[in-house]
Amino acid sequence: MMTIETRRIGQTLMINLAGRLDSISTPQIQARLFDETQITTEQKLILNMAEVNYLSAAGLRLLHRLHERTENICITAPSARVREVLSITGLDVMYRLYETPTAALHSFQPLTNAHTHLEFSWLRQCCPDVTGVNFVSWIRERVERTLRAADKDLDNRFQAAAEAGIQTLIDSGTTVIGDVSVRGLSIEPLLASGLQGIVYIEMLQTHPQHWEGHFQAIRDLIDYWRSRTRGSSTLQVGLELHAPYSVHPALWAKALAYARQEAVPLCIHAAESPGESDFLRDGSGEFNQYYDAALPPILSPGKSPIAYLEDLGALDLKPLLIHAVQVDDADIQRIKDHDCTVVHCPRSNLRLHCGRMPLEKFLAKDIPVLLGTDSLASSPSLNILDELDVAVALHHGYVSPEQIQQLVHNTLPGIEKTMVSRRNNADVDDKP
Ligand SMILES: [Zn+2]
Repeated sequence: MMTIETRRIGQTLMINLAGRLDSISTPQIQARLFDETQITTEQKLILNMAEVNYLSAAGLRLLHRLHERTENICITAPSARVREVLSITGLDVMYRLYETPTAALHSFQPLTNAHTHLEFSWLRQCCPDVTGVNFVSWIRERVERTLRAADKDLDNRFQAAAEAGIQTLIDSGTTVIGDVSVRGLSIEPLLASGLQGIVYIEMLQTHPQHWEGHFQAIRDLIDYWRSRTRGSSTLQVGLELHAPYSVHPALWAKALAYARQEAVPLCIHAAESPGESDFLRDGSGEFNQYYDAALPPILSPGKSPIAYLEDLGALDLKPLLIHAVQVDDADIQRIKDHDCTVVHCPRSNLRLHCGRMPLEKFLAKDIPVLLGTDSLASSPSLNILDELDVAVALHHGYVSPEQIQQLVHNTLPGIEKTMVSRRNNADVDDKP
């Protein structure tokens, strides 16, 4: 008995086989693949053989025939028994073998969601509708109210939310992820997922008496996870310094020195809303309602968010800058001069009334730009292809759809385009 399921992820046809691939089942599989699916020489194929428990000579002939049709073909997760047959017949050299469909997809073409907060996937009810709300109302009246009303067992909630989010990412064909975590609870499930990427653990504190304890606690958490992931070739752990307005200046100095000394990957939300820019330039605007006794206001530095980050020395570490919507030409030049990478999250920007990022200006200067969905608290899905649709519409007349489409195939700084790990056969050439 053999079952076959197919689904398309972008240009790739994913074929899930289960059961015995023998002389009885092979004609049915062959008819389905060659007659109904119309495989061309250009077609990228992934054969997921995790559930195949027997491979006969007829099955091997089918695999040969598929390879004659297209050489863009990978096998994932073969059982030890099937792998042995593939090895004896030399098929493990003809086909590329990967442990997971995600690793195989990545070898064809990376698909990157460069900004998520997977632990916040349970905050879906905070997401504004298409008419949006302003940033400060969203964070104060939706996100913080929901967090306060939640039960005390937040760790379980965060972990379950991260696991569900990861499954959505895998189902939508994502292969690279840039995630922000407050408790490190997305790391273990991401390590098990086969996704490649960086989890940035968050520091956020403006209180003059509390920033030091916060720094120590988060530094310990980062150090712990960096030592746990040292052997991983898929996942790195970094630091997120939340935003120019939400980090005490002394915490900036201490945390940046730590990141520099330990070579910790860095990410920062910056120049997101008009309110953030107003507050940093002259202390005015809605951000005065953002602060309270637990999170007192910082002194306005009297400059733009990006200029402030430059003064702090943060740009020297080439951080991943999330949003970069409220930027002028001088800010874009600063980003270029410091070799930073930018993440664009258009759906979140629209729903939080943050405006349109001048994407065309970044691309004109060859600044690397990636797309991210942001969390489900400000975005309706974690599927980066949904983000792509909105980006194409939003920048119509400024940037071509083809140029924007290319952005989802860029990878995070420090992440290779080709995933060389998670593969069973280490001797096979690794072609991008
Ligand atoms: Zn974010």
